[in-house]
Amino acid sequence: MGLLALGTPLDWPEAKKKADQVRQWGIEQLLANWQRCKGKERDALLWGDEVEYLVVALDDAAKKARLSLAQADILESLARDEALWQAGSSANDKGEHAGEQPPHFHPEFGRFMLEATPGSPWGIGFKDLLKVESNMKWRREVAKAHMAPNESPITMTTYPRLGTNDYTQPYYPPSGTAFRSQFVPDQIANPHIRFPTLAANIRSRRGRKVELNVPIFKDVNTPVPFKDPTVNYDLHLWPEDDDVRNGAAKDDHVYMDAMAFGMGSCCLQITFQAKNMTEGRMMYDQLSPLGPILLALTAATPIYKGFLVDTDVRWNQIGNSVDDRTREELGEAPLANDRWSIPKSRYASNSTYISQDPRLRKEYLDPDLVIDEDIKKRLMDGGMDDLLATHFAHLFIRDPLVIFSEDLEKLDLNQGDHFENLQSTNWQHMRFKPPPSDKDDIGWRVEFRPMEIQITDFENAAFCIFLVLITRAILSFDLNFYIPIQRTTENMETAHKRNAVLDSKFYFRKDPFPRRVHRSNGNGASSGANTPPPSPPLNPVETEYELMTISDIMNGSTDGSFPGLIPLVESYLNSLNVDVETRCSLASYLDLIRKRADGTLWTGARWIREFVAKHPAYKQDSVVSDEINYDLVKAVEEITAKEGRDGSVGWEMLRGKKN
Ligand code: ADP
Ligand code: MG
Ligand code: MG
Ligand code: MG
Repeated sequence: MGLLALGTPLDWPEAKKKADQVRQWGIEQLLANWQRCKGKERDALLWGDEVEYLVVALDDAAKKARLSLAQADILESLARDEALWQAGSSANDKGEHAGEQPPHFHPEFGRFMLEATPGSPWGIGFKDLLKVESNMKWRREVAKAHMAPNESPITMTTYPRLGTNDYTQPYYPPSGTAFRSQFVPDQIANPHIRFPTLAANIRSRRGRKVELNVPIFKDVNTPVPFKDPTVNYDLHLWPEDDDVRNGAAKDDHVYMDAMAFGMGSCCLQITFQAKNMTEGRMMYDQLSPLGPILLALTAATPIYKGFLVDTDVRWNQIGNSVDDRTREELGEAPLANDRWSIPKSRYASNSTYISQDPRLRKEYLDPDLVIDEDIKKRLMDGGMDDLLATHFAHLFIRDPLVIFSEDLEKLDLNQGDHFENLQSTNWQHMRFKPPPSDKDDIGWRVEFRPMEIQITDFENAAFCIFLVLITRAILSFDLNFYIPIQRTTENMETAHKRNAVLDSKFYFRKDPFPRRVHRSNGNGASSGANTPPPSPPLNPVETEYELMTISDIMNGSTDGSFPGLIPLVESYLNSLNVDVETRCSLASYLDLIRKRADGTLWTGARWIREFVAKHPAYKQDSVVSDEINYDLVKAVEEITAKEGRDGSVGWEMLRGKKN
């Protein structure tokens, strides 16, 4: 999560007037920082994960599950404890975590959410990989210890009945000045002024409420056409109540109207530090095509607002929940006041590649990329190269959404606040993070953001471990996953389909191995390191990739033409001296991913769907009632609590058995 500065936030009409100033100052801060840090070398290969939780309150007597809005109390209590820990005087027993820093807890958008990261980033060693799962479990235990006895942190991506009746503790009626939602109260969001301002300014800039229409899952008893029965067409409290009368709620879709329905979702994110900027830019490009694949593999989002939906992942819903584009920018009205028609929400898959890699063909770049030419020129005049300048000139087509008037008095080139204002509200599936302006010990980092949070920590650890290992394999073998970036955009859509992990095909590069060209020069000697060899004739870009199943991509194709990412990771491990015990432990995590890719194990989405389908109260009408919701949340809570102790609750399909 980005900054949590305090101050006086500007309402949208005022903020809009200051947008150019913030952008310009942000670009000056970026340039100053880039000048300072572009030559940073030999940073450690650190990485760290982020796990987001929903806090649920279970009322077992009434068989009722609610979201707890106790974030502030829980965080306060955690912070007190962390201070005691740092002072070495906490009553908490670190036990097996002796030597590890206590986990960090962070606020999130939803007042029912928490985020936890390891106390310090993980190092390059394999032993650290084996600490991740127990560290994640520790975070859960610590979080739980600071909650009321009936509260628990669970890792479902979305709360199945968010936006229905009586689903928060305490209860607040819907409709407040920030969201103007007919389903959720403003109190559902973190009360820190940044969050309601963000929601209100997105709504104001857009000129109407955000609009999420998710296709309903059509079961045998689902009405045809399905008209979302929870939509109220008779409200007259806010001008935005007209939205539904103007057709905002679509037939055969579940309709939602507030940022909380998207930004209230939980993700699993990983940040890698590269040894220098060049390596970071390479990691950014090479991990980008993996985004949709990992999104489909981690699919865990089959329910919205009490209905089964026909999509499996959260991504586009978040995109729609923060889509601040005007009608002109959306292409629904001719351009009159706005500068561009913009194809994607500010929360969307990436549209740029940034590596100065000779393998990056211009055909891979987005020909329709929208950039601010003036910003690009300023960056290039300041010395930045075309590709990186293009990347930031693309991010900076957006307006800053939350501006504090106190920050507009003086430009401080030793800070990065204005840069971060734009950077941290461009929520793309990859984020290229420059070193913080005010911290010398942090290098160039790349964040991988598409994954859905998994119900168990075994799964969450497995996906982190896979991602760390494939990143190492990419660096070690100089792998090449480039495809035209529009194919990644299309893959991202594909990943939304129900059961895409098994039923859909994704564009992927056929040959991931580097092609080293050693042509002789006139003297018969091969080219030196500083003189690039002449380029070989290149095949048409379309012949470089094809549609593959996720099983082919992850495990290798049956005809052997594609090696598979897991086998590549294994070759990488084989190339190193990894002791047998570590190797076995790593294998159990990789096995989960292998089996999920081939369908032996289920995604969370599939597991949840089966749970609902088999529930005695389910009427085959797509409705996830209060009763089903309670049992589902309870089952999820028990799975996490019992994980590693027994497998008696029928969740083997989800996470497999550890050896
Ligand atoms: P954000 O929410 O902006 O992505 P967070 O601080 O929540 O940022 O999470 C960043 C993650 O990066 C954490 O897991 C943290 O451990 C990790 N991290 C911190 N410093 C470094 C570093 N120098 N290199 C790599 N990872 C780091
Ligand atoms: Mg977060
Ligand atoms: Mg974070
Ligand atoms: Mg993050």
